[in-house]
Amino acid sequence: MLAIQKLAIIGDPIAHSLSPTLQSFLIRHFALPFTYHALHIRQHNLPEMMQRLRDGEFRGINITLPHKQTALSFLNETDATAARIGAVNTIVVEEGKLIGYNTDARGFSRSLETGGIAVANRKAFVLGAGGAARAVIFALLQAHVGQIIVCNRNADRAATLIAAFAHHAAPNQLQSVPWPERADWIKKNTVHLLINTTRVGMHPLDDESPLPDHVFSDQMTAVDLVYNPVQTKFLRAANSAGAKIVNGLGMLIYQGVAAMELWSRQHLDIHGIYTSLEKMLQEYSHG
Ligand code: NAP
Repeated sequence: MLAIQKLAIIGDPIAHSLSPTLQSFLIRHFALPFTYHALHIRQHNLPEMMQRLRDGEFRGINITLPHKQTALSFLNETDATAARIGAVNTIVVEEGKLIGYNTDARGFSRSLETGGIAVANRKAFVLGAGGAARAVIFALLQAHVGQIIVCNRNADRAATLIAAFAHHAAPNQLQSVPWPERADWIKKNTVHLLINTTRVGMHPLDDESPLPDHVFSDQMTAVDLVYNPVQTKFLRAANSAGAKIVNGLGMLIYQGVAAMELWSRQHLDIHGIYTSLEKMLQEYSHG
C-alpha cells in the first residue's frame, strides 16, 4: 500500500479558497494517496513553509494570492510556462527539490473552451495586473488574441507586466489604459472579452464590481476569475445587459486538476464528473 502524502494550499487570506473542497473530492474520487490542507501563510512565514517542503513534509502545494510571484525565488527549477508567466501556483517536491509550475493559464484556456468562447483576433480588456492576470495574458497570447488592453489600479504594475510580455507580443498587441479611464474607454471602443482578474468581487468584497454596470453590452463576453461568490456583481451586471458570462469555477477546476495530475503523475479524466464538481463547488461558495 502506498504511503499517504500531504498536499496543501498556502495563501493570505485562505478561508475563501475552494481548492480544499475541489482537491479533496478528486482525492476521494480517484482514490489518490493524499490528504489536502489549507494553510494560512503570511509573507514572513514563506521561507519557513518552503523549508518544510524541502524537508519532505509535503508532496507539493498550491499557491494562491499574494504569494504566486514571490514563491518563484524559492524554487530549484521552474517550468517554462511558469517562468514566462512570472508566477507559480503549483509546486511539486522531488527529492527535496522544489519544482514550480503554473496551471492557471491552462485552467483559464480550458474554461473558455468549455464555454465556447472564441479568442483568436478578438479584443480583450483585462482588469488587474497580479499573478492571475499574467496567466490570463499568457493564455490569450497563445490563443492568438487580436489585442489586449491591461488596466490596473496601480499603473506601475501594469507597465511592468506589459514590459514582461512585450517580447512575445506583436507591436501594439498589448496596451494599457489608466484605471480611472476604464469605463469611458470601454464605452467608446469595441471590446469582445472583458476579464476581471482583480480581487474586487471576491468575498468579503462581494458588494463591489471593478466596473460600473452601464459599460456592459450584449456584444461582449464577461469573464470573472473570482469564484467565491460564483455570481459576482460584475457577472450579474453583465448578464443583465445580455452579455455572455463565464464564472471562475471552470478555471478553478481545470487548474486544480492539472496540479493534481502533476503531484500524482497520472492523467485524471474529469469528463464524467465535471457537472457534479461544479455543482458541489457552487454549494460550498458564498453564492
Ligand atoms: P494578486 O496577485 O494579489 O493581484 C490582485 C489584483 O487585484 C491586482 O491587480 C490588484 O491591483 C487588484 N486589486 C486588489 N484590490 C483592488 C481594489 N480594491 N480595486 C482595484 N483593484 C484591486 O492576486 P491574483 O493571484 O492575481 O488573484 C486575483 C483574483 O483572481 C483573486 O480573486 C483570485 O481568487 C482569482 N483567481 C482565480 C483563479 C481561478 O481558478 N478561478 C485562479 C487564480 C486567481 P493593484 O496592483 O493596484 O493592487
